Amino acid sequence: MGFPTGISGADLVWRGEVQAMKFGTRFVIPRRVAKLDPLGDGFCATFDNGQRVRSGSFVIATGVQYRRPPIDGLAELEGIGVYYAATENEAHHCRNAEVVVIGGGNSAGQAAMFLCRSASHVRLIVRGTSLAASMSNYLSSRLEGDPAISIEYDAEVVALHGADKLHAVTVRNSREGIDRDISACAVFVMIGAKPNTAWLSDMVELDKNGFVLTGAEAGADSPYATSRPGIFAVGDVRAGSVKRVASSVGEGSVVISKVWEHLNS
Ligand SMILES: Cc1cc2nc3c(=O)[nH]c(=O)nc-3n(C[C@H](O)[C@H](O)[C@H](O)COP(=O)(O)OP(=O)(O)OC[C@H]3O[C@@H](n4cnc5c(N)ncnc54)[C@H](O)[C@@H]3O)c2cc1C
Repeated sequence: MGFPTGISGADLVWRGEVQAMKFGTRFVIPRRVAKLDPLGDGFCATFDNGQRVRSGSFVIATGVQYRRPPIDGLAELEGIGVYYAATENEAHHCRNAEVVVIGGGNSAGQAAMFLCRSASHVRLIVRGTSLAASMSNYLSSRLEGDPAISIEYDAEVVALHGADKLHAVTVRNSREGIDRDISACAVFVMIGAKPNTAWLSDMVELDKNGFVLTGAEAGADSPYATSRPGIFAVGDVRAGSVKRVASSVGEGSVVISKVWEHLNS
């Protein structure tokens, strides 16, 4: 979260658990911002304990919350069979084993395509009756034509089984009203993410999914500027960001020159 960074213009109105760091950066840990308001020619953030901090500029970097479906055993198996991203690490873990991907959108489809290169079989569990409305045609045709992938419609995962690792999944077919257990070493939950922007209320423009608009889409003249001069957004919380560590870190470093410009204008 982009609290005042000690750059000229940042002025702490509260001096509690603030630690001075290298380059004058101050960290406030652990605190959640509950709201942000205009104040004079800058802004005031109120923490969840009521304490406040004032700054001429803010960088929003509050990320997203990955959606967690209500599945028995999900929390217990996170990181040891339940994953929210499909990268080389997870693919390695699934080599020659069966995996389940939950979701009907492009991210679920891309994960299934990627995982079927190493897994013995990938089951895509889709709550709806088709992929037409949620996935691009190109991707759904590739999934349907791949013998290493099967797609189950009208289906949902209702329970996970395993102690120190996942070994089976209960899938419910809502059309037939039947539950059945299938073997799986991993479940990939790919049902989207909700941006952490509720605390922003109407301070900056958001897209229809609640992500912060920046750059041209926000009517701003620099890529990470929002619709309100002085407030910037970087990382996963930004509409159109690629949701990777390297890009989030890169955006965070690039935006600081614009913060500096704003504070000195
Ligand atoms: C399971 C998983 C695996 C992943 N694997 C990879 C990978 O292998 N490679 C890769 O490149 N990317 C991966 N990602 C994506 C990567 O984690 C994100 O792209 C990156 O962390 C985004 O950085 P960020 O700073 O925008 O947000 P985050 O890292 O999410 O940080 C946001 C921070 O803001 C805090 N916050 C939220 N609301 C408030 C508030 N109101 N007040 C104060 N603080 C608040 C949060 O607690 C959090 O600490 C993975 C993500 C997940 C979930």
